[in-house]
Amino acid sequence: MIPFSELKSQFRSIEAEIRAAVDGVLESGWFILGAQLQAFEKEFAAYVGASQAVGVGSGTDAIHLALRAAGVGPGDGVIIPANTCVPTAAAVVAAGATPVLADVDPATLTLDPAAMERTITPPVKAVLPVHLYGHPCDMDAINAVAARHGLYVVEDCAQAHGAQYKGRHCGVLSAAAAFSFYPTKNLGAFGDAGAVTTNDPEIADRVRKLRNYGEDRRYYHVTHGVNSRLDEMQAAILRVKLRHLDAWNDARRARAAQYRERLRVTPLALPEEAPWARSNFHLYPVRTPDRDALAAWLKERGIGTLMHYPIPIHLQPAYASLGWTRGAFPVAEKICNETLSLPLYPELPPETVDQIADAVIAFFDKR
Ligand SMILES: *Cc1c(COP(=O)(O)O)cnc(C)c1O
Repeated sequence: MIPFSELKSQFRSIEAEIRAAVDGVLESGWFILGAQLQAFEKEFAAYVGASQAVGVGSGTDAIHLALRAAGVGPGDGVIIPANTCVPTAAAVVAAGATPVLADVDPATLTLDPAAMERTITPPVKAVLPVHLYGHPCDMDAINAVAARHGLYVVEDCAQAHGAQYKGRHCGVLSAAAAFSFYPTKNLGAFGDAGAVTTNDPEIADRVRKLRNYGEDRRYYHVTHGVNSRLDEMQAAILRVKLRHLDAWNDARRARAAQYRERLRVTPLALPEEAPWARSNFHLYPVRTPDRDALAAWLKERGIGTLMHYPIPIHLQPAYASLGWTRGAFPVAEKICNETLSLPLYPELPPETVDQIADAVIAFFDKR
């Protein structure tokens, strides 16, 4: 069996460091909003190149609170790509705003700046580009459209830890950015966690209040906040893992290059990096009209795959009330019908990549 992903071997490779970090928190007797979080926020901000990072409870909360900190709320529209992970849309709704969908670019598979511009109506106040699969969006083009229309930009960096756009990290390319540290992300906690990065001290300050019941100083509450904090245990674990992130991303890139080398003989559409992009290869999604048959073929051979994502936002029952029907976003719909993610994680042995590639090539040979 070759699972789609596997988190234990990474833990084994840093077990002593992790156990020491967890032990330190247990011995400290302090579990929420303490020294570990403060240190992680400083270290993560420095890694991304932002002046501020604010730890929160999840990536979904990071998007929700970054939007609220920017003044986005009821009555406002927020543009998101039609092909994304559902929490992108859920976070917009949590902020009290309405998702406004736009199609994606067929080359980068991320928000199409021209489609975004066509989607702008008066209620639209913000845009939420998603660096999907770890490939950066065309941020100069998106920021230019946003500036022309006075829109606020928040990056969804949940899949983009360490990814770069023109030499700068995703997470500093807009007013604020939201990261997830869900266990399977490139930087993953051992539970739920997230963070907002920004160069704007006022936004950081508002997120700090919002994550802690709107508290400004002890016993004094200035806004209706939530309970969404990155706890000390996860912060200590993330501090250890952050030190390994670049090496892990390099290992992912090497596996991706190996897949590309082997699979170029097949009719698959393989992930492409735009000239200005350095992907972190959070995922390795290949595309074929024979997606379902290929997935079944690999499953019979014990190889796990996933689809990112099989159903676009506008065709999800939860978002049917937004009013879009099939055919509204043709590029996103085609991707959803054709995409299949192959196993890719830093500890995946190169021999296993070869084995998976052999099975994919055999699928097309037999046809
Ligand atoms: C994982 C993910 C999220 C949500 O993060 P959570 O930490 O699970 O709340 C949001 N957007 C995208 C693109 C994601 O991949």
